[in-house]
Amino acid sequence: MEKKNTWETYDAKHIKKLEKLCLEYREFLDHGKTERECVDAIVNLAEQAGYRELESVIKSGESLRQGDRVYSVWMNKSIVLFQIGKQPMCQGMNVLGAHIDSPRLDVKQNPLYEEGGFAYLDTHYYGGVKKYQWVTIPLAIHGVVVKTDGSTVEIAVGEDEEDPVFFVSDLLIHLAQEQLEKKAAKVIEGEALDIIIGNKPLILEKKKKDKEEGEEKDGHSVGKDAVKKGILAILKEQYGFEEADFLSAELEVVPAGKAREAGFDRSMILAYGQDDRVCAFTSLKAMLDTKETDRTLCCILVDKEEVGSVGATGMQSHFFENAVAEVMNLTGEYSELNVRRCLSHSCMLSSDVSSAFDPSYASSFDKKNVAYLGGGMVFNKFTGSRGKSGSNDANAEYIAHIRDIFERKNINFQTAELGKVDLGGGGTIAYILALYGMNVIDSGVAVLNMHAPWEATSKADVYETYRGYRAFAEGASL
Ligand SMILES: [Zn+2]
Repeated sequence: MEKKNTWETYDAKHIKKLEKLCLEYREFLDHGKTERECVDAIVNLAEQAGYRELESVIKSGESLRQGDRVYSVWMNKSIVLFQIGKQPMCQGMNVLGAHIDSPRLDVKQNPLYEEGGFAYLDTHYYGGVKKYQWVTIPLAIHGVVVKTDGSTVEIAVGEDEEDPVFFVSDLLIHLAQEQLEKKAAKVIEGEALDIIIGNKPLILEKKKKDKEEGEEKDGHSVGKDAVKKGILAILKEQYGFEEADFLSAELEVVPAGKAREAGFDRSMILAYGQDDRVCAFTSLKAMLDTKETDRTLCCILVDKEEVGSVGATGMQSHFFENAVAEVMNLTGEYSELNVRRCLSHSCMLSSDVSSAFDPSYASSFDKKNVAYLGGGMVFNKFTGSRGKSGSNDANAEYIAHIRDIFERKNINFQTAELGKVDLGGGGTIAYILALYGMNVIDSGVAVLNMHAPWEATSKADVYETYRGYRAFAEGASL
């Protein structure tokens, strides 16, 4: 089948909207470098669009009616939004879903140590990373330190131009003959991904009496682990926490710097964390911009996809189902059976990024069944590898329904697999929602160098995916 380049289908009006959306998208990425920061950014956007917190509506004793908009946050890391439609919810919802966690280096619980004159933070990487990509690049630290008195210190260091950054060292090329013989997976080992955070020993200033010269200050080093002690003094003074507080901290080490336009033609975006915030942002925007629908709209943006959707804030947690039950309770429809009907009659676009065709590594892809940057929104009928293992496999009837909606609205889309049959594969949240018996298809945006510190997308795909989500939100009703 012939594939169109999405850019060729746009007039000046489209380009103007595209540029506006992509600028907002870059700002979203800059404000949301962790799942917690993403949730904060999403709540801000949702409240501006008239969404209210579900828990406060419950407390107030109000009920929900057509057109009402609510959101519910789970443990500051996952969020679900609803806009009540005209039809009863038991007839099903149109659901958009994506994840907001991204690969990174997490700081361990007992992380701080000194070695060879450097202070380090020990890390454990999160999600699938090529470890060698994380050395010698500027890194930022984002996250929270929660103290035993219940107070939270929010940390974001390394993004402001005046901020210091951090880094992981690598062996100089002159001494690397042995290292370079190793396989790429072993060149940098997981335990070698500790970040350097300081090199200056703590100097205590002590007053000394000198008879002839009067009072004079004399510097004294504090002995063993003086660099580490220097860092602890800074953490205490500037951030108000102590070494023991690392025990109850969640600190994420991510590439420092803002999302950028890429290419002389500014056709692409190069940024950290586009997997899967590109789908999360476009799903959210589509939801916020869509009004007056027959079916209730829902948008789920979750944590922990990169580690198997486990835990209380992952898609496998029941927080989503509980929120649906609460919303139905407020619309006056709640019963166990109605919740089940609502979920099983829903249609979902479960979105995650798809690996884009990379001409430099052409042999890893099936050119007929791969996503192209600039090729429009991507649909993956299935995602597993080696016999479709572990994949949600969307029904042909459902795909035909989506095709019909998209063709009517002239949305550019492409269909793809993640790579060659015996190579590709990857999990998403689709199979978990499919457990309710609802129609789910994997969809999303093509990304070049997926899971690298800096990932690339096409601005045209970002815009087209937003258009696709809107068409789905308004039109799906299977
Ligand atoms: Zn993903």
